[in-house]
Amino acid sequence: MTTASLKQEMVKETEPRAKKREIAIVVPAYNESTNLEQFRDAVHTVIKDLDQYNWKFVFVNDGSVDDTWAVVQQLATEDSRIQGVSLSRNFGKEIALTAGVEALDNIDAVILMDADLQHPPPLIEEMVAKWEEGFQVVATQRSAIEYSWFREWGSRAFYYLLNKFSEVKIQPKAADFRLLDREVLKVLRNFQERTRFFRGLVDWMGFKKTYIQFVAPARAGGESSFSLRALIDLAINSFTSFSLLPLRITGWLGLIVLAFGVGTLIFMVITGPVLHLTHYTALAYFVVFNTVLTGVVLAALGMMALYIGNIHTEVARRPLYIVDKRVGFNHE
Ligand code: UDP
Ligand code: MG
Repeated sequence: MTTASLKQEMVKETEPRAKKREIAIVVPAYNESTNLEQFRDAVHTVIKDLDQYNWKFVFVNDGSVDDTWAVVQQLATEDSRIQGVSLSRNFGKEIALTAGVEALDNIDAVILMDADLQHPPPLIEEMVAKWEEGFQVVATQRSAIEYSWFREWGSRAFYYLLNKFSEVKIQPKAADFRLLDREVLKVLRNFQERTRFFRGLVDWMGFKKTYIQFVAPARAGGESSFSLRALIDLAINSFTSFSLLPLRITGWLGLIVLAFGVGTLIFMVITGPVLHLTHYTALAYFVVFNTVLTGVVLAALGMMALYIGNIHTEVARRPLYIVDKRVGFNHE
């Protein structure tokens, strides 16, 4: 035994009841009533052997329309480590994750997991080991394709564009299955932006990070809410863009006018001064040139609509989510 480890042993001896580190598992759940119990059991089997930590669960009911909340309440009464937060409506997974994380304080690490068992619980052990090695973000990456080709290619296109237009490298195929250290959580709390992409924010923050590969199995039960979610997103987006629709139309109009004006101008120059087929008056040039300018101005208005849209969402400053009910929080 080296002196260092001997010393460690002695420290352990002298303070045997040093507070256990606390890890919380945050689970967003949207219509997951059929999976939650199975999920809890699967995770329990894994964390039984990890009793050097204090474990906690936060289930976030993201406005489910089935009896997910009833199941969460039931689980919370069976196990005091389980807490639940119910949002007043469906806010989407990103916000649900935020709500779950913000419901905790003074936690040493958080593990974000889907409720449908597509994030294999046995990986928890490896994640925690990496965390003990000093990694502040332990992320995961799906190594096998388990989604439809449509979704697979959609995901590829999404990451391609995202990485093209953003200054931060965002890992493709990364899953939301992650462990975040308390430092990361502290920073995350200060984020005020409305439209959030949880994984992107975490990637943006940096910190000491590592990846674990895993094969995502099929959903335990129920259906992926992806298409529904996509529809909701679309609805929200089209709603917010609705008020700026006139400006957007103006922008498109501007582009058309611009193209038309430039085309006409080129035609005039070629048939006029170049080929001498006909003669245009100075006024004619002026009128067409003016049309081009008008096109530029209108197109610029359209561009402004995009910026105004961004400002609009930032200025709105609504609460990110509204908690409807809670269960398992002692102070209430
Ligand atoms: N989820 C959520 N709110 C939503 C949609 C999904 O909290 O609006 C949760 C869902 O219950 C699951 C996780 O997010 O725990 C992943 O959702 P899903 O399995 O539908 O997505 P996929 O695995 O197909 O990406
Ligand atoms: Mg899933």
